Amino acid sequence: MNAVRKDIRRRTKEELRSFFVEHGIPAFHGNQVYEWLWQKAAIDFDQMTNLSKAHRSLLSEYFVINHADLDQVQKSSDGTLKNAVRLHDGKIVESVLIPTDTRSTACVSSQVGCSLDCTFCATAQLKRMRNLNPDEIFDQVATLNRQSLEAYDRPLSNIVFMGMGEPLMNYPNVMKAIEKITSPEGMGMSAKRITVSTSGVPKMIKKMADEYPRFKLAVSLHSAIEETRNSIMPFSDKFPLTSLKEAIQYWFSKTKERVTYEYVVWKDINDTQEEIQALVRFCKHTPSKVNLIEYNPIGDDSFAQADATAVDAYMRELSKHHIPVTLRRSRGKDIDAACGQLANKSI
Ligand code: SAH
Repeated sequence: MNAVRKDIRRRTKEELRSFFVEHGIPAFHGNQVYEWLWQKAAIDFDQMTNLSKAHRSLLSEYFVINHADLDQVQKSSDGTLKNAVRLHDGKIVESVLIPTDTRSTACVSSQVGCSLDCTFCATAQLKRMRNLNPDEIFDQVATLNRQSLEAYDRPLSNIVFMGMGEPLMNYPNVMKAIEKITSPEGMGMSAKRITVSTSGVPKMIKKMADEYPRFKLAVSLHSAIEETRNSIMPFSDKFPLTSLKEAIQYWFSKTKERVTYEYVVWKDINDTQEEIQALVRFCKHTPSKVNLIEYNPIGDDSFAQADATAVDAYMRELSKHHIPVTLRRSRGKDIDAACGQLANKSI
C-alpha cells in the first residue's frame, strides 16, 4: 500500500476538498486538513483532532506526510541551536535558530550541498547533491518555529536563507516554500522579515525583483575587485561585477529597499586600501549597507580573519562615506553553526 500512497502536501486545498467529496464527505474537511498541514505544521494524521477517526484513517489509506525528521539538535553556549534534519531519502541538511533578547531568527538551507564553489565555505566542499523541495524548506522553518516557541515563548521573528546552498539556484522551490510561510493560511509571516541571501546570480536577482519585491536581499560580495572576487568565488567569472551591479540597481528600482552586502575581511586577500576604496565605489551605485562578517575557519590555511586594524579601516571609510556598516559577531561557532560552517560534520 505504501508505494501508491501520495504525498498529501503536494495537493492544493481544492484537491483536498474534492478528495473528501469523492468519498461522499463534506468538502470543508479539506480546508481543515489544509490548515493542519500548513498552519499547524502537522506531521501525522492523528494530530488532526477535529477530524473523526474514520476520516483520519481514510486519509492515511491514500496519503503520507513526507515530512523531514529532526535527526540531531546541538546547542551552542550562546543559545544558538543547530538542527540536523533528515530528509525522506536519508540526506541531511542543517538549519539554525539564532536567538537574541528580542528576536528569533531562523537560518535555513535551500540545497543539500551547494551549486556554487566559494573557496572559503564548508558547504561548497560538499558540492551540490540536490535541491530541496518546498516542503523540506517549510519543515525546517516549522521546526525552528516550534523550538522558538518552546524555548523563548515566541514564534520566529525573521528568516534568513543563509544556510546550506544557493537559494537563487533553487528559485522555484524556495519561492513555493516562502509562499506557504507567508500565506495567511500558512504561517502568516510578513515577507519583509525574510531575507534571501545570494552569492550574486544577476538574472535571478532581477527575476526576484519582478516577482517578489517584498523580500530583503543580501548579496555576498566579499570583494568589489573582479580579480579578487573571481579567485575566491570562481563561479563569478560568469557573472561580472558590472552585471551584478546592474541587477542590484534593478532590484532597487523595483523595491526601493537597500541591499545588504555581506563581506568578510581576510588577511592578505582583501585587507588593503584598494579593496576598501573599490567597495566604497561599489556601494555608491545603489543605496546599500554593509555587514562585515567574522570569518569562521573551515580548516583551510589559505584563509584567516584580517587584523582588527583592517576591519576598523573598513568601518571608518564606509562611515565616512555615509554607508551604514555593521560588524556581525558569529553565533554558534562552537557547534559549527556559524556562516559557512554548515557541512554535516556531526554525522
Ligand atoms: N549561498 C548564499 C547563502 C549561504 S552562505 C550566499 O552565498 O549568500 C551565507 C553567508 O555566509 C554568505 O555571505 C557567505 O559568503 C558566508 N560565508 C560562507 N563561508 C563563510 C565562512 N567560512 N566564514 C564566514 N562567512 C562565510
